[in-house]
Amino acid sequence: MNSNVHYYNQKKYCPHCREYKRYLQSIDASYCVACGSKVRLFSSADKKAFLAGLQSDKEASKKGTKRVS
Ligand SMILES: [Zn+2]
Repeated sequence: MNSNVHYYNQKKYCPHCREYKRYLQSIDASYCVACGSKVRLFSSADKKAFLAGLQSDKEASKKGTKRVS
């Protein structure tokens, strides 16, 4: 049973509660334990920041791999 405990330490963003909540994981979706709504990995603001971070990583690696021989 203890192997499942770590799931409850993680939180996902619930658009209904408008905050990060603990969630129940099912096969193709996660649900807020407080209200039962589907939760997301990130809030929309955090998702933008995450995608922006990915983009800048891509650009950085492009520059890094672009070598003039
Ligand atoms: Zn909720």
